[in-house]
Amino acid sequence: MHEPLNESSPPATGDLRIILVGTQHPGNIGAAARAMKTMGLSRLVLVAPEKPLDDDAYRRSAGAEDVLDAAPVHATLAEAVADCRLVLGCTARSRRVQLEQLEPDVAAGRLLRLAGEGPVALVFGRERTGLTNEELQLCHASVHIPSDPAFSSLNLAAAVQVLAYEVRRAVLAAVPAAGPVPPPAPDALPATHEQVEGFFSQLAETLEAIDFHKGRTPDSAMRKLRRLFLRTDLTVNEVRLLRGVLADAQRMARLAGEAGRLSS
Ligand code: SAH
Repeated sequence: MHEPLNESSPPATGDLRIILVGTQHPGNIGAAARAMKTMGLSRLVLVAPEKPLDDDAYRRSAGAEDVLDAAPVHATLAEAVADCRLVLGCTARSRRVQLEQLEPDVAAGRLLRLAGEGPVALVFGRERTGLTNEELQLCHASVHIPSDPAFSSLNLAAAVQVLAYEVRRAVLAAVPAAGPVPPPAPDALPATHEQVEGFFSQLAETLEAIDFHKGRTPDSAMRKLRRLFLRTDLTVNEVRLLRGVLADAQRMARLAGEAGRLSS
């Protein structure tokens, strides 16, 4: 028989981080902490908040001080998600996003499936301007709460509440697996953000080495390639394979360059 999910056996959400980027009002951070705690989430992460936590933040956390006090602060989003295997960016505007766009319940399901294997993240932007394009490019997919397009932007903490609620629903709906499930081989896990970024750096170097751009700026091609590879949820193994291919291409480009110099 399955154990019923109740207070004495809280369902594990693993390391599911709620990351707030560049928050302008500390009160919203407090309200977000409260929203998280009501739904059983505790891992709040701050990226370059505009102001430090203040009385307003603690007042609006309404008892979720522990969540605020435990929140690490990072300088950049890249740093905060370096070890994450899945990063989803919440955005109020559906049009500007070139990433795959997920409904909140689908996003919650995906996060929960991976959360047991290591850190995963749900990222929220600034009150005034949301997430930058560069920050969205660090995400595997975007999440949009289907609000009225004519008035689409929720308050930051309200958006956190909606997503935290969907995570909660996904946790409560999850039927514990019957019998022990063998853990996936480490190489079959999705690659971490840092591993995927390492691959992208090598890809950019290789494209230069084989003169792929032919005078054009590399930005547009790299953006499209990032989107393509981020959509495929690369595993640790696949990143290793792709980097092996690139290393050979770089070696051949080097040899061709040397041969060219010798014959001239
Ligand atoms: N004016 C900003 C809105 C910022 S609201 C903009 O247009 O982008 C602050 C944050 O709350 C957003 O960055 C996003 O992470 C989240 N948010 C607000 N409304 C949302 C919605 N409808 N769907 C998903 N996330 C939303």
